[in-house]
Amino acid sequence: MGKATGFIEYPRESSEHDPALERTSNFDEFKREMDDDKRKEQGARCMDCGVPFCQSDYGCPVDNLIPEWNDLIYQGRWEEAFWRLRKTNNFPAITGRVCPAPCEHACVLGISEPPVTIKENEAAIADRAFERGLMFARPPEFRTGRRVAIVGSGPAGLAAADQLNQAGHSVTVFERADRIGGLMMYGIPNMKLDKGLLQKRVDIMSDEGVEFRTGVEVGVDERPTDFARLFDATLIAVGSTRPRDLPVPGRELKGVHFAMDFLSRNTRSLLDSNFEDGDYINAAGKDVIVIGGGDTGNDCLGTSVRHGCKSLFNFELMPEPPKERTDEMPWPHFARTLKVDYGHEEAAARFGRDPREYAILTKEFVGENGVLTAVRTVRVKWTKEPGLRPQMEEIPGSEEEWPADLVFLAMGFLGPEDMVVETLGVDRDERSNVRAPFGEFTTSIPGVFAAGDCRRGQSLVVWAIKEGRGAAREIDRFLMGYTNLE
Ligand SMILES: Cc1cc2nc3c(=O)[nH]c(=O)nc-3n(C[C@H](O)[C@H](O)[C@H](O)COP(=O)(O)OP(=O)(O)OC[C@H]3O[C@@H](n4cnc5c(N)ncnc54)[C@H](O)[C@@H]3O)c2cc1C
Ligand code: SF4
Repeated sequence: MGKATGFIEYPRESSEHDPALERTSNFDEFKREMDDDKRKEQGARCMDCGVPFCQSDYGCPVDNLIPEWNDLIYQGRWEEAFWRLRKTNNFPAITGRVCPAPCEHACVLGISEPPVTIKENEAAIADRAFERGLMFARPPEFRTGRRVAIVGSGPAGLAAADQLNQAGHSVTVFERADRIGGLMMYGIPNMKLDKGLLQKRVDIMSDEGVEFRTGVEVGVDERPTDFARLFDATLIAVGSTRPRDLPVPGRELKGVHFAMDFLSRNTRSLLDSNFEDGDYINAAGKDVIVIGGGDTGNDCLGTSVRHGCKSLFNFELMPEPPKERTDEMPWPHFARTLKVDYGHEEAAARFGRDPREYAILTKEFVGENGVLTAVRTVRVKWTKEPGLRPQMEEIPGSEEEWPADLVFLAMGFLGPEDMVVETLGVDRDERSNVRAPFGEFTTSIPGVFAAGDCRRGQSLVVWAIKEGRGAAREIDRFLMGYTNLE
């Protein structure tokens, strides 16, 4: 149970970060893991509280066995900790870096004290497993002779591929991009998730027998209708990649981009040539405005600062969130409070102020000769009557014009693209996602399953892993008549 008095003896300590200004000179990860003794103290803070909400429905979506591995960390039994963690999570080194950690929001210690550093403890176990040679290819001992096609190599597709391959099925993953990983590769920037680490994990899966086919767009290069002949089951895991647009006057101006164009080209150019090829949207010396908060907006801030932008603002239509929990988000629910993420911290260090402007509506993009020069906005007021949706009202006289050379639209995603969904002819739900009940993951076509953002809408890596594992379990049951997958 960790140490009985650990939560009294040791304060919460997070791993150190390189200083904000220093780290923005490159795209390297900037967290520095603490030594074993310090990390043991953090494991010792776990109270083994009897009802571990951290691994319940309120907490970790993949039901990580958190108190068990916290105890093993405290005892220095790193290898056992790794195997307990690996039991529920295919990619703990990744969630340990990028997960928003709903587990910590549900930690019982968190009711009265800062919660256990669960996310960092997870990364600490996974990273030590890599360092100590525990992460190597373990191909399955037998093959079932069943073949499974997985379309999309994000966390949903990869988790399913790993599970199904370990169950002995022959898995082929089709990915239209030139590298495997989905948004873990070309969405989340390198400073948050090192692509070398992701690639190492993909290489292990490849050595274990998963076949990866990159640069193949299913629906264009491969006909998914042929899959029924070639494969015994198909999993659609194509993500939710249709970005929400902002159709205001001037949208067509040069300089207005979707955030994903900025982020994905940046990472590709970094990995291909360390930016030598110049094939990316360069924010150096530019006035930059990021429209939309969330992870995507924050990643655009961090990337723009690293390029050396001239000014940087982040517009958010909604009002500033509260600093503390309110009655609407009691423990153990996820607390949607004001958070200072790495990009906000870096922009503040560079420009002397938090880049975020709340309750602001973009009315128009202004330009000269077809090129963006400014953004016109108005401030808004939000009101909410009990039982009704919040109402927005523009504040007269609050119009402003902001100089801008680049705008990045980071306002979320609207569902999967049409190609695979329509060629296969699977039903969609009212939100245009692939219709497939959670837990079953079956689509309207027998033998075709769906998981991840294309099924549940834009979400989180940990939810995509959860869905990929669940879909693998149901595919295994479909192929074999029973399943031992969890
Ligand atoms: C910029 C950004 C930052 C984010 N940061 C975080 C974060 O910090 N933490 C977090 O938990 N979540 C984050 N998310 C969300 C998270 O990345 C997603 O929820 C998760 O990746 C969804 O996984 P998925 O497997 O369903 O789909 P994706 O990761 O979107 O993968 C789908 C894959 O399918 C491929 N594909 C699509 N169509 C075809 C086709 N026809 N043929 C072949 N391949 C195809 C795509 O190229 C893509 O690689 C972020 C999202 C974005 C956009
Ligand atoms: S995957 Fe996320 S929710 Fe689960 S233990 Fe790790 S950080 Fe917490």
